Amino acid sequence: MAVVIDGKELAKKVRGNLKIECENLKAKGIRPKFAVIMVGDDPASKIYVKSKSKACDEIGIEYEEHILDDKITQEELINLIHKLNEDKTVNGILLQSPIPKHLDIDEAFKEISYKKDVDGFNPVNVGRLLLNQDTFVSCTPYGIMKMFEEYKIDLEGKNVVIIGRSNIVGKPLMACCLNRHATVTVCHSRTKNLKEKTKNADVLVSAIGKPNFVTADMVKDGAVIIDVGINRGENKKITGDVDYENVKEKASYITPVPGGVGPMTVAMLMNNVIKATINQNK
Ligand code: NAD
Repeated sequence: MAVVIDGKELAKKVRGNLKIECENLKAKGIRPKFAVIMVGDDPASKIYVKSKSKACDEIGIEYEEHILDDKITQEELINLIHKLNEDKTVNGILLQSPIPKHLDIDEAFKEISYKKDVDGFNPVNVGRLLLNQDTFVSCTPYGIMKMFEEYKIDLEGKNVVIIGRSNIVGKPLMACCLNRHATVTVCHSRTKNLKEKTKNADVLVSAIGKPNFVTADMVKDGAVIIDVGINRGENKKITGDVDYENVKEKASYITPVPGGVGPMTVAMLMNNVIKATINQNK
């Protein structure tokens, strides 16, 4: 039976270390500050934003929220981003997605200074990740890499199979695993013979958003299973993409949902804010 990777506990440890780093920075007169931009009042975004502000409070990072009317223009949004880029007291900037459809989020991400882009979505940072250069890694893949490090799961020479090719999970995770010398296969909705690919995985990551999609027959004995999916059931119960009860019998390591990848995402965001602050004060 698999070892359960405890993302909640690891995230707590990461936040604890960041709190100490934050105190050290403050002792030198440096106060880390994080600015979040939210457009409109999407209920899920409100929950995500709240968890970010809570983590900032715990660590001692100053938190600034900009809630914009859902009718703002692209120009007004970009003007705010430019203002925050120029504000020397702000170290990290995040634009919460989704934003209303009349706005272009990719264009907006491009305008966030790559030095303050703690979400790692600016094309400069995405490119630097591909080139295996120091960068801000987007927070979900970064959290997964932190789990591998903590549980001493070495990727060198391993077959890593990722289901899902989004810009926020699948693609940056592909680059992270390649940089750690894994052989990486990225699967998606048009992949043929998916099971053939997943059966070959030493490490299998699912990031698609479909409950019970990954079943035990798709998994090799002893594989490491990382479940990124967040699915809300009828009774509001949250589940991942993996048939957890059956797959855990075959796997060597597995992440639960909730309490796996999710808590790591916010912790690594906080890590990026502290990193940005240190870089900007060198
Ligand atoms: P997305 O919705 O942008 O893309 C889904 C991906 O899954 C696509 O690449 C698609 O090709 C692939 N896919 C869909 N159906 C498939 C199928 N039948 N077979 C193979 N591939 C298929 O994805 P996203 O934004 O990366 O989110 C994926 C899931 O991860 C969602 O449940 C989301 O809520 C969750 N998520 C969790 C965190 C976290 O912190 N835990 C962070 C981001 C996303």
